[in-house]
Amino acid sequence: MKQLFGEPYNLEETIIGIIVKENRAFLRRKDYVLVTDQIDIKGKYKAIITGHKLLSEQQGVSGVSNTDELNNGDIVTIDSSGVINVVYEKGSKHNAIFITGRCNSNCIMCSQPPVKKEADRFKLNIEYIRLLPKQTESIGLTGGEPTVIGEQLFGIIKEIKKRQPEIHINILSNGIKFKDKKYAYDYASCINERTVIEIPLYCDIDHIHNNIVGTKTFYDTIKGIYNLASYNVKIGIRVVVMKHNYKRLANIAEFIYSNMPFVYQIAFMQMEPTGHAINNINELWIDPYDYNEQLEKAVLILHYRDMHVSIYNSQLCILPEKIRRFAVKSISEWKNIYVQKCELCNIKSECPGFFASSEKFHSRKIQPVMNN
Ligand code: SF4
Repeated sequence: MKQLFGEPYNLEETIIGIIVKENRAFLRRKDYVLVTDQIDIKGKYKAIITGHKLLSEQQGVSGVSNTDELNNGDIVTIDSSGVINVVYEKGSKHNAIFITGRCNSNCIMCSQPPVKKEADRFKLNIEYIRLLPKQTESIGLTGGEPTVIGEQLFGIIKEIKKRQPEIHINILSNGIKFKDKKYAYDYASCINERTVIEIPLYCDIDHIHNNIVGTKTFYDTIKGIYNLASYNVKIGIRVVVMKHNYKRLANIAEFIYSNMPFVYQIAFMQMEPTGHAINNINELWIDPYDYNEQLEKAVLILHYRDMHVSIYNSQLCILPEKIRRFAVKSISEWKNIYVQKCELCNIKSECPGFFASSEKFHSRKIQPVMNN
């Protein structure tokens, strides 16, 4: 998520609030974080973010240089060290609630490596849900692994449903915890029909999947998927493509169709080169152009059998034309970039582009499309 930094002032614990860039009436300030260059602000905002200094009685962050990156209606957390995290970006389709930084796997290409310890985020997240704009269309639940907080996860989901009955919820989980049938049942009982849980399956061969996730949990994940399916939960399968599994993409597609024809959607994903992925890049990296043959086969195997298949995080110019239409704009706005060559491209507006971390690490075959 987008982060800004400054000097903390009178902050003892992490707070959350809605960004506002003009002064509000006194009675309507308690949920708001004012972004201002005006020094003499009286009255109780949740916090103030400024490029200048703060007055002794104020609470917030001073010396923030890039306040223009914050917009009215964004929701931010501010921690006691002065880090400002934009957890909700107004107008974005990719907003999420960060459930926990902990995880029960340790994937070799994890873009957000897990932490061992952290402060409990439950109260903060309940507050976040309260601050979400009315009729928010969709929200993700992410981590870390959201199920490591156990039944608290159901509390989060119920709170979302209570405040936003029509919302679409998208949960990213490794699925392991759902091998526990009771947990799968309790989960299925608390979601709405617009909730999808996205579970990664990196290979049809157990030891290759296990090598990627860093734990021997292939069969736990499969069991979790079956348990969820037995309660009619909508399940998405995610396959991040890397050197370890690209040769088996067609086999993975066959495996999913043969064993999990009930899944709601399948996505083949280009890797995000950050976190563990960048540390292990030599072991993982294959130019996405070089697995086109396998990707095309896998996508078409599923598509011809009426399964809903997509390609995430891929640039259109490197995909074979036959499967370009499966590419989805899947990269969160704050980290979505285009490289210089893209300026000449006629299909830039339809292209998913790159992760910011891919600027120096992308396919050698990027080439502007001129004839569309
Ligand atoms: S040149 Fe850039 S904008 Fe055009 S298809 Fe390739 S990556 Fe996308």
